[in-house]
Amino acid sequence: MTSSLRTYRVGDATITAIHEMSIEGFDAGALFPTLDLQVLSDPAAGIAPDQQVRQGGDIVLPVTVWLVRTLRHVILIDTGVGNGKKRGHAAFNHLSTPFLQDLAEAGVRPSDVDMVLLTHIHVDHVGWNTQLIDNEWQCTFPNATYHCSELELETCAGDREIFVDSIEPVISSGRMRKVAAAGEEIVDGIRFEPTPGHTKGHMSIVLTSSNATAYFGGDLAHHPIQVYDPSVSSKFCIEPDEAERSRHRVFARLADTDTLYFSSHFSGELVGRIVTAHGRYRWEPLKQQTMR
Ligand SMILES: [Zn+2]
Repeated sequence: MTSSLRTYRVGDATITAIHEMSIEGFDAGALFPTLDLQVLSDPAAGIAPDQQVRQGGDIVLPVTVWLVRTLRHVILIDTGVGNGKKRGHAAFNHLSTPFLQDLAEAGVRPSDVDMVLLTHIHVDHVGWNTQLIDNEWQCTFPNATYHCSELELETCAGDREIFVDSIEPVISSGRMRKVAAAGEEIVDGIRFEPTPGHTKGHMSIVLTSSNATAYFGGDLAHHPIQVYDPSVSSKFCIEPDEAERSRHRVFARLADTDTLYFSSHFSGELVGRIVTAHGRYRWEPLKQQTMR
């Protein structure tokens, strides 16, 4: 089944959410060990009904690949889990999703993609980098330059499974370009900036077009509750304190501006703004805003 495509405009860029799959069955308390789940239903937190999680209940995390079309480039931000990959976690093991059909439905063939931007190297962010062709993992996007933090590339090598089938083939094909650990503008209007904590080399991607800005936070946050309480990290964050500092830094800068935040995993609406209310940040989903 193909997903319905949600498309957004930022300046001259068109941004489409390609929903690859949803990760289900995470106990919310286990995913966010320091979160008081009652905070989720506190009206002050402003968490929408479709983003609520019951006490002891499961949390659903969509896996989103962002397709960005600018006047010059066809870009993917992160590449999901991928098909046919052997993974330890059952939810990711040997998937067979219609991701490439969904991309085609959005009007894009793999050969059209000229840039792949990776926020970090985790199982749900790099999978479609490659696909199995003639029994060999080859670049899914044969004309693309893949961009990834050099620090992330250095530190992920320990995760052999992902590295071998999704990273190494890109490097050996000569299509991987390392982004400076300090961050870097890779082309006009597209910038990587370090947001470490979830992983050591995690980077967010900032797109600026005709005075409008889109912020792709990767796994800076997994749920809007982390906007309300930036001290909440997921159990997958390697350095929770660093992740918290990154959230504070980013949310302080984005708060009460027109910058749209594009999340990878928020259930419900994936895109919104960071606003302040009563001295705290709040997630304001785009739909609510446009309904006003
Ligand atoms: Zn993720």
